[in-house]
Amino acid sequence: MAKNHSIVYVEDLKVSNMSASAGGTKESPGKNVRQKSGLNRSILDQGWYSFFHMLSYKLERGGGKLIKVDPRNTSRTCPRCGFVSAENRKSQATFACIGCGYRSNADEVGAINILRAGQARLACAMSGAVRPLSAGTRRDLLQH
Ligand SMILES: [Zn+2]
Repeated sequence: MAKNHSIVYVEDLKVSNMSASAGGTKESPGKNVRQKSGLNRSILDQGWYSFFHMLSYKLERGGGKLIKVDPRNTSRTCPRCGFVSAENRKSQATFACIGCGYRSNADEVGAINILRAGQARLACAMSGAVRPLSAGTRRDLLQH
């Protein structure tokens, strides 16, 4: 990856937060603990932290960069009209915007949103959060 790409955009997954969240606290116990701890285990097993660290090192060594973006709404934002809703995500595999009807593979939508947020972050040194478009911008996009 580092040999063929100078800039790589990834979601800034807070691995330690994710692994701490499943059980919750005594006052507010976590939901779906079994599923989440399974997810936590797989995230930790895959060693994302080590992977990102090594990838970042190798990219920078070649003059490139690893850009991390805020993962909020990357899977819920419509890349065509900017509408943000949990209901846009019909299933694990399918994205279907309830605002404009755009349909696509959910992973592809996530990748588009991560790329855009990362490029915005790179260009403006912003937080990189995916934000909904203004009503006016949405209207303009929908007319084309
Ligand atoms: Zn849409």
